[in-house]
Amino acid sequence: MIETQVLVVGGGATGVGVARDAALRGLRVVLVERHDLAEGTTGRFHGLLHSGGRYVVKDPRSARECMDENRILRRIAAHCIEDTGGLFVCTPGDDEEYADGFVAACAEAGIEAEEIGAAEALRREPRLHPGLARAFSVPDAAVDTWRLVGACADDVERRGGTVLRRHEVVSLIVEADAVRGALVRDARSGDEVEVRAEMTVSATGAWAGQLAAMAGCDVHVRGGRGIMVALNHRLTHAVVNRCRMPSDSDILVPAHTVCVLGTTDVSTDDPDDTAVPADEVRQMLADGSEMVPHIRAARVLRAWAGIRPLYSEGDTGAATRDLTRDLTLLDHREREGVGGFLTITGGKLTTFRLMAEVTVDAVCEHLGVDAPCTTADELLPGSGDGHLLTVGERLAERERNLHDEQIVCECELVTRGMLLDAAATRPVVSLDDLRRATRLGMGPCQGGFCIPRAAGLLAAAGAMDAPAVNAAVRAFVEERWKGGWPILEGRQARQMRLDDWMFHGALDIDHLPG
Ligand SMILES: Cc1cc2nc3c(=O)[nH]c(=O)nc-3n(C[C@H](O)[C@H](O)[C@H](O)COP(=O)(O)OP(=O)(O)OC[C@H]3O[C@@H](n4cnc5c(N)ncnc54)[C@H](O)[C@@H]3O)c2cc1C
Repeated sequence: MIETQVLVVGGGATGVGVARDAALRGLRVVLVERHDLAEGTTGRFHGLLHSGGRYVVKDPRSARECMDENRILRRIAAHCIEDTGGLFVCTPGDDEEYADGFVAACAEAGIEAEEIGAAEALRREPRLHPGLARAFSVPDAAVDTWRLVGACADDVERRGGTVLRRHEVVSLIVEADAVRGALVRDARSGDEVEVRAEMTVSATGAWAGQLAAMAGCDVHVRGGRGIMVALNHRLTHAVVNRCRMPSDSDILVPAHTVCVLGTTDVSTDDPDDTAVPADEVRQMLADGSEMVPHIRAARVLRAWAGIRPLYSEGDTGAATRDLTRDLTLLDHREREGVGGFLTITGGKLTTFRLMAEVTVDAVCEHLGVDAPCTTADELLPGSGDGHLLTVGERLAERERNLHDEQIVCECELVTRGMLLDAAATRPVVSLDDLRRATRLGMGPCQGGFCIPRAAGLLAAAGAMDAPAVNAAVRAFVEERWKGGWPILEGRQARQMRLDDWMFHGALDIDHLPG
């Protein structure tokens, strides 16, 4: 049995944020995540650190929160944020009156938006639609979610907290009208352990309804399924948004060596509904090319979907696109008379720190602890020198030491040392775990060349035995194919045929032991 003050369920951005905030306030904390960290919506999002511009006309309160948190995260998590800047552009046919309202709303919300004119926008971003009418710059940025979540988890452990990956809550311990922790199963060994806690926080995102039901509570999270596609290079330097009411396919985000076009919003009650219909992808590419015509000429690498955990009290069944992106903290003592149990839901990745602050304030109130939140000032491990992430940082590092290390993944410049370090510092059960830790296989070849190399190195170094590594290669290829089917057209079909030939023809992975 494990005893703690605070049990956090869910290892997405919200959960690690809550655990870190609690640890910084001196509380004993245990976080459990049933998969790897950031394997839920946090690892399936668009990658935008919002300035708030997207929401400013429709939901000014959320927009203001985004701007405030954007400023804080640039300071405390510098190494996770690339300062790409952002543009809002009016493409031909867009309502220019919306743009007037946008400028006024940004001024009201404290978002630094500046009209730069079409010519200047095209000078900065030559791949934008040449007929664009107006353009505004805003302080949007790109955020590396895996770095951010990893840094929060490291900080929790550094401060004496515990982070248990691949530990699933199978039931909540409910005694005398209060949740007193959870029964947790280790996915690898199958062992079950009781984690007894004074307060349990559900940060389970789209799965919050399932967890709440274990305590007899009712939380109806409305899922908003959104698809995204990765394109094979950076088409723009800045984040590009279409200047109109939020709609489908109107944001392009540069992300390391590629860029991501998104997204859609389809209502679903199934948190595991991450299907990617091929017709949605085709529509997204068509819509996106109205903003950046070059999208048509780029190669689509992969498509995936994530589920927004949206919440609205007394939900009227409105479309998920119209539900607020505001955060919601549910205290089940006040709602259903079940003590020791909070659910934090809604919000965005950009506001994860604020969501954690609000939650841990409530935890402290329940526990009678008087400890202020310090997460807006305490730097995350890795961001000490204040340098923001740059896309060329791995290349610069490589150029300083040209001869010292073998490169495993050319697209993302993952070296042998980076791979083996990542394998040594976490429980590795899949090559996807190492992908999240290092970006292995995330570039234009999608693992075709680097995965066989990585597998050989992991086996040779004893990080995985040969049958385990063979099984991991098969699982990786299968997972990548899921993201490949909906985009199996044109040049990408040829690339995937090549990858398929390498894995199934040259390596014959289906017949390797394991
Ligand atoms: C398509 C799309 C695009 C988006 N783009 C952006 C963007 O660009 N910028 C932005 O700021 N926000 C964006 N968002 C919103 C943002 O991604 C989410 O709000 C945020 O990631 C939610 O994080 P979370 O930690 O609350 O949930 P999650 O990341 O889903 O974490 C919940 C975790 O709980 C775990 N869990 C569930 N049940 C159990 C259990 N029984 N035991 C143990 N663990 C359990 C899950 O495995 C999961 O890892 C986007 C969302 C979507 C869907």
